[in-house]
This record gives sequence, structure tokens and C-alpha cells, in this order.
Amino acid sequence: MSLNNATFRFYQELNDFLPSKYKKKSFHYSFRGNPTIKDSMEAIGVPHPEVELILVNGKSVNFSYHLQNKDFISVYPMFESFDITSLIKLHPRPLRITKFILDIQLGTLAKKLRMLGFDTLYKNNYVDKQIIEIAWEEHRIILTRDKALLKNKLVTHGYWVRNTDPEPQFIEIIQRFDLKNQINPFTRCMVCNQKVVQVEKDEIADQLQPKTKKYFNEFFQCVHCKKIYWKGSHFQKMKQKINTLLP
Ligand SMILES: [Zn+2]
Repeated sequence: MSLNNATFRFYQELNDFLPSKYKKKSFHYSFRGNPTIKDSMEAIGVPHPEVELILVNGKSVNFSYHLQNKDFISVYPMFESFDITSLIKLHPRPLRITKFILDIQLGTLAKKLRMLGFDTLYKNNYVDKQIIEIAWEEHRIILTRDKALLKNKLVTHGYWVRNTDPEPQFIEIIQRFDLKNQINPFTRCMVCNQKVVQVEKDEIADQLQPKTKKYFNEFFQCVHCKKIYWKGSHFQKMKQKINTLLP
């Protein structure tokens, strides 16, 4: 079989997956036969769930497209953080509900997302197969630090978290999925991800530390595990951070 050649250009944050010699420019990719574009992209290093649009010679194709000699291929990331979001923002809120499932390395991020009301599944003993199956059944977006997980063919919505520390990870996710308008603090339990509702102070007063009882009057409780929440310093700091980092 003779060697064929295609030209690839990856846009925006898809460049994060490329070796430096390929970043932010067109490059030649050699192949034998006619592999699918999904396999070729993943051989280059880009997991398919990160990709929203592929143009081959100006026409959009799906992942099963077979590469042809001399194809010119432009690959674009999910549009959430792309220019066309200005169109989508015509709606007061995104039409879809953003739900996540996180891999075992992202426990702290899971708590932060839940704190702001995002439906976030996380267990420290999930195996990849479970994550993929649950994501598939419940239409959840997989957040992971493991690029290999995203290359599984059953993964439709997934995102490789670039940052390694929980604080910047959290900001990254809010910005990447444009979630600022969906923040709804004190609606979800940080421990078990179930609903949190407001409760009267009298109902739970006997479970409070003296200082908490003295300084706070507004309380919330998880309907499932019964954990009690109030808007203490942790919450205030988080709120400030969101306001300053996301103008
Ligand atoms: Zn709970």
C-alpha cells in the first residue's frame, strides 16, 4: 500500500493535545490505506469527545469518515467556549442541563461543583467501565485527567481537565462549559450529591456547634444524608472567587 498524506489543522484548545511541532499550524499526516478520521485524530493525540466539528475540504463529516489522500482537515473543539456562544446566549439559560461524572482523581473538584449546585457523580472507587456506562445512560459529561479514558468509543461527551490543582480546575470547568449563569449554591449536597433544602433553625438547632448557632440563622439540609449547611466563611470565599475570576 502506498503512503497517503493529509493536512490537519486543529483549532483552539485542541492544541493542548498536540506535540509542540504541530501546535497552532497545519501539518502533514501520513497514513496507509484509509483509516477513519476518529482513529487518525486519536493517533495524533486528540480524544474524540473534545471535538465538535470536523471539516474535510470544507465539508463537515462525522467520525467514521475515511481519510483520503490529499484531504485538508480542520478540527474544532466543543463550541461551549467558542465564539458562536454569543448566539446561544440569546437564551437566558442553556437549554440542556449540565451533569457530570468525574474520575477518581477529581474528588475535590467534585465537592466544589456540588457546592454550586451542579449534579456531579463521583466515587473514589469508580473504574473506567462504570464511568463510561453511567455517562452513557444518564447523559453525563465525563471530566477526567486521563486522556485514554476519553478515547473509548462509547464516550460521547467528555473533557480532559487541563489543570492539576482543584482551585484552577474549578474555574476551568466553569469557564469551559460557560456555567456561571447556572450556579445555584446550596441546592446540592457536597457529600452525596442529593438535593439540599432550606430548613428552620429550630428544627436542627440541637445539632449545631455553639458558635454556628450564635452567628448564623439560615440553614440548609441534605434530604438524603441529613448533612447541615450554612453560609459560612468557606462559602463566602468561594463566592468572592467566582465574582472576581469570572467578570
Ligand atoms: Zn447528602
